[in-house]
Amino acid sequence: MFRKRLTDRATAATVPVEVVPTNPEFTSLSYPDCGYTADDNRKSQAVLVCHSCNYRANADINAAINILADGLSVTGR
Ligand SMILES: [Zn+2]
Repeated sequence: MFRKRLTDRATAATVPVEVVPTNPEFTSLSYPDCGYTADDNRKSQAVLVCHSCNYRANADINAAINILADGLSVTGR
């Protein structure tokens, strides 16, 4: 349902938008620069702290960065 609505909106957009499905699994548990993924990286619902490199971020923003990186790797941009 969400994907259809998103695709419909992307198709209707004035500026072309490409929808790239990605796997959201572990996106809030890993830091994209070092790639370390672990359940205990998630200190709380809101905070990610990487136990490999000590990177600290909002978990949702970090997940969005990972999803963007996955999408860009598919499109080659
Ligand atoms: Zn790290």
